[in-house]
Amino acid sequence: MRYEGTVYRPPSEAGSLIIQLTIGCARNTCTFCNMYKDKKFRIRPLEEVVEDLDYSRIKVRRIFLADGDALIVKTEDLLYIIAKCKEIFPEVERISVYGAPKDILHKTPEELATLKAAGLDMVYMGLESGADEVLQAVKKGVTADEMIEAGKKVRAAGMILSMTVISGLGGKKLWREHALGSARVISAIKPEYVGFLTLMIEPGTEMYDQYNRGEIELLTPHEVLDETELFIRSVDAEGTMFRSNHASNYIPLGGTLNGERDKILGQIEISRRKSKFRPDVFRGI
Ligand code: SF4
Repeated sequence: MRYEGTVYRPPSEAGSLIIQLTIGCARNTCTFCNMYKDKKFRIRPLEEVVEDLDYSRIKVRRIFLADGDALIVKTEDLLYIIAKCKEIFPEVERISVYGAPKDILHKTPEELATLKAAGLDMVYMGLESGADEVLQAVKKGVTADEMIEAGKKVRAAGMILSMTVISGLGGKKLWREHALGSARVISAIKPEYVGFLTLMIEPGTEMYDQYNRGEIELLTPHEVLDETELFIRSVDAEGTMFRSNHASNYIPLGGTLNGERDKILGQIEISRRKSKFRPDVFRGI
């Protein structure tokens, strides 16, 4: 298999066949992200992608089309690749992609419905924060209302939507706005899944330099718990599966909203008694 650079995929795609339809991220502006800093964005020639599919002929149940934003690809080309996935892997049960909000907004509802009917089952969308102040500060290039519109479009097309929020992204200054804004966006969309990661400042990012200049004040583990608690108390998303069990998180949390809200709040309460959390996120940098 030909892979260019480091390939990222959501944790739940660990068992999937990963095929790069695009290389890198078309935006690459987010101050906290170093995933695709070493790659110049391009859409791969379709014949190359099909060669990779042919080359990987093994039994697979799931295919994830990487890199950062496969939905930037023209709908007719996406339909061609999805059809090839189905032809080469007739047993495939799920095809999924990362979807950048702007790319979703550029597709019509009919295009998204056609993609779903063709076999694109799931979209992962990074919300990061539902607060405009935070989105602006981290240069996400999209507003909270655009996130809502994009998320609703994916859901209206019948695709499964999984969204991520980054705990602590607003720092000490904007943690309330971050929690409440994220709860507003998730309540409006009610995605099937919402996963919380916790901010880890990576060398090579703009945020790393901002941190070293003293421009960002990070939340302590207990403050991250306060922020998560405010989100959980404020969100209204019946049926959404909430998970905070990524390696970056200080404690594992999980439950289905809204019914298991008290269970999740109980998990947070128990965690407050802990005095030791995972090692400091800055160790080694
Ligand atoms: S967070 Fe997503 S949109 Fe932002 S630079 Fe990273 S891959 Fe691109």
